[in-house]
Amino acid sequence: MAKYKKKPIIIEAEQWFKNGDHSQDDCQQFDYTDGSGSFLTEGKIVRYYRHPQDSGDRSCEKCGKMMHVHGWIDTLEGGHIVCPGDWIITGIANEKYPCKDAIFQATYEPVEEAVKRERIHTAEANAEIAHMKGLL
Ligand SMILES: [Zn+2]
Repeated sequence: MAKYKKKPIIIEAEQWFKNGDHSQDDCQQFDYTDGSGSFLTEGKIVRYYRHPQDSGDRSCEKCGKMMHVHGWIDTLEGGHIVCPGDWIITGIANEKYPCKDAIFQATYEPVEEAVKRERIHTAEANAEIAHMKGLL
């Protein structure tokens, strides 16, 4: 079987912990008329987790936190639960999907870090070439 390597692509991502955390959530803040506080409207990207057969009053099998602190996001493959701490990735076709923090950390690095590493590799390669040329 032929082998393939993923092309390095740049994605945008932000970590989500609670309603309103995504920069495109566009939440509005409203004050209660009795002055008892305020509330945020539901995010447009990460919505509230709600399910007709699930009160939300149970802990998540993935993260252990209560389901009512979770979010819900539409992906190309359908709706998906968002655990607090998950990253929301915006892909090359502007599609959005959640990613667990451990997988995100193992798979992605900030672009500045990648550029720095690339420069070091290039510098090392150039030094090696110069060294080899010196030997010829
Ligand atoms: Zn969870």
